Amino acid sequence: MKNDQMLPGRRTLLRLTAGLGTAGVVRVIAADPAGTPFRPPALDRAGAAGPSPALRGAPPSYRLTPMTGDAPPRFRPAAPPVRTRPFEHLPEVGHAMVLSFDDGPDPHYTPRVLAVLREHDVRAMFFLCGEMADDHRDLVRAIADDGHTVGNHSWAHPLVTKLSRAGVRDELGRTSEVIEGLTGTPPVWYRAPYGAWNRDSFEIGAELGMEPMAWSVDTLDWTEPGADTIVRRVRQGAAPGAVVLSHDAGGDRSQSVAALRRYLPELLDHGYRITVPQRR
Ligand SMILES: [Zn+2]
Repeated sequence: MKNDQMLPGRRTLLRLTAGLGTAGVVRVIAADPAGTPFRPPALDRAGAAGPSPALRGAPPSYRLTPMTGDAPPRFRPAAPPVRTRPFEHLPEVGHAMVLSFDDGPDPHYTPRVLAVLREHDVRAMFFLCGEMADDHRDLVRAIADDGHTVGNHSWAHPLVTKLSRAGVRDELGRTSEVIEGLTGTPPVWYRAPYGAWNRDSFEIGAELGMEPMAWSVDTLDWTEPGADTIVRRVRQGAAPGAVVLSHDAGGDRSQSVAALRRYLPELLDHGYRITVPQRR
């Protein structure tokens, strides 16, 4: 699994996407102040044990088919206008920050990350790769059961900007299906591998009911710079609304876990509430 390193051309891509215009209404809010984990109603109905009955046997592209009849929609598309830039931080609601972990789940590191988050009773975002989720189904359920937000990080971590539109749809659609099958609810957030966004992924993500979420603090933990450096980057980037990027898979992530054990209690001691964004 590759990491979200800055590839040649990424800055160009970011400039291009930035030039497409600003987003419409920001519909992201911080989770409730009490930090109650967000539990979509669908999760309560379907539980977290295996694919929902309605999913089994459905065609792979069912979610892109217009809804007909009186059946309630299984998802709702992201409300227009389709964004042309990803969210990079929360609105500055209170003294809140978001922690996010990409590329998993990984059988060695994801349980360790979950344990630290559980110890401090905070929720985070996990952007999963579909192929990893499919290989480690119990971990997907464990992430959801702990109340964390499960996001879509593509199936096989490609450079999305090199894919055809059909390829983007396949990468995002398959991953959403696996996540929905395991957690009972489709993801409402996605993150482009390498942070390489393009119009196709914004549009297809919106069709699939997802909003794009980037980050504002890159720990560069995949370079294995040492836990001290990772901690320092989080300290320097800490701010209301900040979104921190780390990885729980894709290589040796022991430094990422060691750093989390240090910076998470520090952030809490400094009055930061660690939360996940909600859509309304
Ligand atoms: Zn990634």
